[in-house]
Amino acid sequence: MAKSIVTPRIRRLVCANAHPAGCAVNVQRLVEKASAAGPGEGLGNVLVIGSSTGYGLATLATAVWGWGASALSVCFERPPQGSRTASAGWYNIAEVHRIARDQGRLVETLNGDAFSREIRQQVVEALRDRFGPLDLVVYSVASPRRKDPDSDTVWSSVIKPIGTPHGGKHIELRSETVTGHDLEPATDEEIEATVKVMGGEDWELWIRLLAAEGLLADGARALAYSYIGPRVTHPIYRTGTIGRAKEHLESTAERLDALLQDLVDGHCWVSVNKAAVTQASAVIPAVPLYKSLLYKVMKESGTHELPIDQIIRLFEDHIGPGRAPTLDAHRRIRLDDQEMSPETQRRVQELWKIVDTDNLNEISDWTGFKREFLQLFGFEVEGVDYDEPVETEIAWS
Ligand code: NAD
Repeated sequence: MAKSIVTPRIRRLVCANAHPAGCAVNVQRLVEKASAAGPGEGLGNVLVIGSSTGYGLATLATAVWGWGASALSVCFERPPQGSRTASAGWYNIAEVHRIARDQGRLVETLNGDAFSREIRQQVVEALRDRFGPLDLVVYSVASPRRKDPDSDTVWSSVIKPIGTPHGGKHIELRSETVTGHDLEPATDEEIEATVKVMGGEDWELWIRLLAAEGLLADGARALAYSYIGPRVTHPIYRTGTIGRAKEHLESTAERLDALLQDLVDGHCWVSVNKAAVTQASAVIPAVPLYKSLLYKVMKESGTHELPIDQIIRLFEDHIGPGRAPTLDAHRRIRLDDQEMSPETQRRVQELWKIVDTDNLNEISDWTGFKREFLQLFGFEVEGVDYDEPVETEIAWS
């Protein structure tokens, strides 16, 4: 084990390494926020699938520190290997475990492919041995591919429009210029593969397995996350391949709701969350540009929220113990209410029309977007001394 100075190895919006101390501080801040916001008790056992970054990590922190849950979590992260740092999610979970252990809380994580039978089986065994039935199951996996648990087939998701080609504005990341992008429509196979990866099929397998194993408590609730977004991103998101997968996820929630009602007097919902800077979402064309404009508008109007703020609100207003969610006409919880408010969208649309390379930094929060992106990997985190060598070989306790 040797300490080293870690600097970001970043190409376009992909970061190949992570800073352990920065990730630890990020987690400490999530824990502080969640602890300050929730009652500190009320929830029993929780399973978070996709728990190490973004919305899943915010869910894990809120359930454990906001509402006193014992948590089993699943993620797919890279441990440190020699001189190569671990992934950010690895360091995040290491810090979650460290704080939980110091405080005598029960938090365990299984690192592996949530789509595989092996991980499902390990979860079942861990729940039987050390937790008991679940009060809440949250599915927050974002993955570019999924291996069929019953064959060698691997489906890869694509981000493409459906039906017709789409040209639109986006930020060309290497040169940081605002330019046009042209995307050809997806083939039927690509649409089907994207639904297989990001639709509700895997989620349903999880919930049916937990139900069959008697691992859902009376009144158990299940939740997955979705996104809708504005018209400018619809061709590549909501009416494109990913949107098709999200529609599948949302219709799966209805089926699972009926199942949970019958079995345990429980419920299942989808929560539509606001656009946030996360690893999975940064690679979608047009999305970094849209988010930079959205952040500018929402920060100026005081309505900007990070995933932790959204999830604190989710528990407080909708799914925490004793709460009943407010649903839209399609049975969805809408945490994107402030993003989609007519006033916010009107201002973003105005900026969208005029944004170009010259005014990008002036009328958008592109600088803030890039900083938040780096912070996902533990860089540019306030209070961290980046000149100080750090231990990168950190194990989970
Ligand atoms: P993210 O990239 O931050 O997190 C993805 C999580 O999935 C990580 O914990 C990762 O380890 C885990 N994961 C990936 N592949 C896995 C596998 N094979 N097995 C086990 N775990 C795996 O993503 P995110 O943006 O927080 O997305 C989570 C959910 O929230 C997605 O359904 C996404 O569509 C939804 N959502 C995101 C946004 C946004 O703007 N980021 C907005 C609304 C909804």
